[in-house]
Amino acid sequence: MSKGLCEELKAEGISNQAVLTAIETVPRHLFVPENLRDLAYYNEALPIGGGQTISQPYVVARMSELLSGENNQRVLEIGTGSGYQAAVLTHSFKEVYTIERIRELYDTVVDRFQTLGYTQIHTQFADGSFGWPEHSPFDAIIVTAAAAQIPQALLDQLSPEGGRLIIPIGDPQNPPQRLSLIVRHKDQFDQTWLDAVLFVPLKPGISDNP
Ligand code: SAH
Repeated sequence: MSKGLCEELKAEGISNQAVLTAIETVPRHLFVPENLRDLAYYNEALPIGGGQTISQPYVVARMSELLSGENNQRVLEIGTGSGYQAAVLTHSFKEVYTIERIRELYDTVVDRFQTLGYTQIHTQFADGSFGWPEHSPFDAIIVTAAAAQIPQALLDQLSPEGGRLIIPIGDPQNPPQRLSLIVRHKDQFDQTWLDAVLFVPLKPGISDNP
């Protein structure tokens, strides 16, 4: 099944080998609710609970491809959700740091990473808008929720030597948003506008209901 999905993404223009291998290897059916497993290898977003979604595989692959630069040691993800994007990133980066603000999703994903043996993924339950300063600078940062503007902390925690940030920007009430890629060289940040996308909003604070 994932082989078919991989071919489909190739046909849509994904060419980074590590990303294609990830799409072929990561068992997406184990990242979606049990009753939706049959749909896991279609190129579609799916609900994962808490009003959130696992992104469409094409978008996961596209963002992963855009993130890969010269240094691929450490990546930070804001919005762990199902954990699928983080798992895909383990094929391109040595260490993956990921932050989720909804307790219910966070607890599920911590168990999932442990069961599947993803020891190179480090999780935190927090508002990811503040990044994870203790582990910065990051070679890459990916935000998988839509923001009205780029949180300053994420720009600050980007490696000054070619760090790459990918983030959907726009009004979540008024979709689509647009992917933005920021590449940092010392104190210079170069911004490029890319694909139109649909993401749930980046929200402030944490939601700690069990
Ligand atoms: N990358 C995920 C998809 C995420 S959906 C996957 O592969 O499944 C967006 C996620 O971002 C949701 O789980 C939502 O709770 C989370 N989120 C939104 N705002 C956040 C914030 N400020 N900090 C951390 N996570 C946030």
